[in-house]
Amino acid sequence: MNIKGLLLFLFIPVTLVLFLLFPFGVLISVLLGLGIMFFHRLIARPYMKYYHAKKCLWCNAPFKNASSLKINVEEGKNVQEFNSCSEKCKRGVQNFFRFTGAYRHMIKWGILIPLAGYLVIALLVSFEILALDMQWVKNSFKAIIAILVVSVSFFYRVGGAAELVFPLPVHNLLLLGIRNTLWIFRIVGIWWLITVGKDVIELLA
Ligand SMILES: [Zn+2]
Repeated sequence: MNIKGLLLFLFIPVTLVLFLLFPFGVLISVLLGLGIMFFHRLIARPYMKYYHAKKCLWCNAPFKNASSLKINVEEGKNVQEFNSCSEKCKRGVQNFFRFTGAYRHMIKWGILIPLAGYLVIALLVSFEILALDMQWVKNSFKAIIAILVVSVSFFYRVGGAAELVFPLPVHNLLLLGIRNTLWIFRIVGIWWLITVGKDVIELLA
């Protein structure tokens, strides 16, 4: 396990805790979370530039020798080179980015719009400009994100686009490798859907 990658990945759950539990109040927690998102990039980009040739993007295994299977991924206007340790891992990476390439707009805006909307609503509710039950604002946000990431984690195998594209910051996928990242999002997403489902059942009961 690459400890630096694990530590950099932990900033993602920390940001989610800030946005969902507001441990320092809504305004400070949201500002801290946005600050982490911004500064995380300043460390995670150099991490990607250093490690993209040193470990497998799919299974996270470090390379024992320099020979590896290269993969180029489009991220906005950039093309980033990654490597995989076997043909099997290369296929996993290609299927994943072909799928995210085919559904790039849905994936990008399906995450960014609910996130921005949720944060704006949370701030308006905290300033008493809007009167909404925050539990249901949180549940709506969690349900949308969970449906999206759980769907990607199961359906990426079908591929789609001819080109390999990722519509969000691609460095986050190298921190733990795509395979581990998909497992984490699959488990957390299903857990979120169960907790939201429980709240819906309680409301209807
Ligand atoms: Zn591999």
